[in-house]
Amino acid sequence: MTERTKYIVGNWKMNQNTEDVIAFFDAIDSAKLRHEAWIAPQAIHIPICLQNTDDFKIGAQNCATENSGAFTGEISPASLKDIGAHFVIIGHSERRSIYNEDDATLNAKAKIALANDLTVIFCIGETLEQREAGKVEEVLAEQLSKGLADIDSENVIIAYEPVWAIGTGVTATPEQAQETHAYIRQYINDNLSIDGNKTSILYGGSVKPSNVEDLLSCKDIDGGLVGGAALQADSYMGLHA
Ligand code: PEP
Repeated sequence: MTERTKYIVGNWKMNQNTEDVIAFFDAIDSAKLRHEAWIAPQAIHIPICLQNTDDFKIGAQNCATENSGAFTGEISPASLKDIGAHFVIIGHSERRSIYNEDDATLNAKAKIALANDLTVIFCIGETLEQREAGKVEEVLAEQLSKGLADIDSENVIIAYEPVWAIGTGVTATPEQAQETHAYIRQYINDNLSIDGNKTSILYGGSVKPSNVEDLLSCKDIDGGLVGGAALQADSYMGLHA
C-alpha cells in the first residue's frame, strides 16, 4: 500500500488581523503536530505568518492566471513564490460560486502555480442539489478532467469539499466521504496524468476536533482542508490530536 502524507490545512479565508496571526502561532505546540501543518491566510498576511513560524507551510487561497502585467488587484503566482509561499488553493467553492471561476480559468491557474513551483491544492465538490440528483460522480469527473487537463505533476493535492458541508456544520459521514474519495482516486488513475495512488486527497467541510479522527482513519482520506476549526490555535491543535 502506498503511504501518503497526511495534512491539516487551515483556510483562514478573509479572517484574522496581525494580532490574531501572531497569537495563533504563539499558542501552537509544535511537538504535538501529528500531520503536515499548513495555513492559507489572507495573501497580505503571508509574510507575517512566515516570520512567526518554522513549523507550518504557508500558502495562498487563490492566484492569478498570469505572473505579471496589467491585472489590477490580482495575486501573482510568481510573487507568491518570491515571498516564500509554498502552496496555493485553487478552485475553492467560494471562488467558483462568488467569483464565477470556471474550469478553464482554474486549469490555467493550476498550471501557472505549478510552473512557479507552488504546490496546488485543487478543490472539487458537488452542491446538495447535485448530490440529491445523483450527479456526484458526473460533477467531480468534469471538475477533475477539465481543471487538471494536461497537468502531470507530483505537486498536486486534491481537496474534496462537498459544497453543502462547507461552513454549515454538516459534515459528510466518514462512509460518504470515503466512498467519494475512493471514486476520485480511481478516476484520477483511469483518466488523468497524475498518479492517483500517490496523490493526497483531503476532505473539507465542517471538519472539527470531534470528527477529524473518524474521517482521517478512512483509507482514502489523507487529511483535512479546514475553515472555521482552524482559526484558533487550540481548535487547530485538536485537529492533530
Ligand atoms: C473551507 O473553507 O474550505 C471549509 C471546509 O470550511 P469549514 O471547515 O468551515 O466548513
